[in-house]
Amino acid sequence: MRLYNTLSGEEQEFSPAGDRVKMYVCGVTPYAPCHLGHAMSYVFFDVLRRYLEYIGHEVEHVQNFTDIDDKIIQRAQESNTHTDDLAQTHIEEFMESMDSLNIKRAHHYPRATQEIPQILNVIDQLIQKGYAYASDGDVYFRVSRYDNYGDLSHRSVDGMIAGARVEIGTSKENPTDFALWKAAKPGEPSWDSKWGPGRPGWHIECTAMSMSYLGSTLDIHGGGQDLVFPHHENEKAQSEAYTGQSPFVRYWVHNGLLNMGDDKMSKSLGNNVSLNEALKRHGADALRIFFLSSHYRSPLTYSEEGVSGTGRAAERLANALREETGDGTGDLDPGPYKVRFLRAT
Ligand SMILES: [Zn+2]
Repeated sequence: MRLYNTLSGEEQEFSPAGDRVKMYVCGVTPYAPCHLGHAMSYVFFDVLRRYLEYIGHEVEHVQNFTDIDDKIIQRAQESNTHTDDLAQTHIEEFMESMDSLNIKRAHHYPRATQEIPQILNVIDQLIQKGYAYASDGDVYFRVSRYDNYGDLSHRSVDGMIAGARVEIGTSKENPTDFALWKAAKPGEPSWDSKWGPGRPGWHIECTAMSMSYLGSTLDIHGGGQDLVFPHHENEKAQSEAYTGQSPFVRYWVHNGLLNMGDDKMSKSLGNNVSLNEALKRHGADALRIFFLSSHYRSPLTYSEEGVSGTGRAAERLANALREETGDGTGDLDPGPYKVRFLRAT
């Protein structure tokens, strides 16, 4: 099987480094109900995992929950809830939705708030190696110290500096530096650290969690294309700086995004369709076929008519199965279909 690797910009023949495929997929920030954009990404990685298993690989799949960040804190304050309770509610709902979509569960679902010691250890090591610095209770990654910054997203550091927003009130050495640890503001949940009470930045959790479950090199790291920069660029920099080994990830795999009109569907843009509503209206098969109807790296535009159309396609498949097996309860001989499928992969 050939997989497109965002880092090399090419399709490469895939094989795992060891006896199993180590696959890490970035998970959701559980502050609101899951929308169809997430669902599309997880359906794609579900299909990738099922295919790898089908051709004989053992896959170990890890997917995180970013259960502490600005949006969770803000939403919890607005709804007068504890951040833990808000996250727990949406994590349970997420798991139910993924089950309804017939997505295989990951083997591990680490949560940022449950991995603080590992996160603190990585930050501490990065400081000791000169790749990070503490400043007024925050800790930042020193981008200029890491030579390969920009390789994954194919951007130049000079271009990033030119385009960087001037942030008021931060104590960064350089505008491209990014937070590993954020000092607590009054009333925010926090954890103790050498640098004072605070919480982890977003990117560092994926480094700490992927490595504690899968080791220092991953075969596949997945997510939507909107995660390439800055999230995955930063993850790569801090992970390779921490271990001194490259590559952190052998195949960076990114799916195209689901659009609503001219914009990507996102919770923060408020143009999303809730997964549960769509599941009720169309069912899991129609949604899965709709998501898989375009190439996984291309954007897909959501429309009710489009999903209704794939609903009819799902019905035709079900009818064909009934015709082949009489009453629909017997087993279809998949042999000839498998041959044709494998020829096309
Ligand atoms: Zn991540």
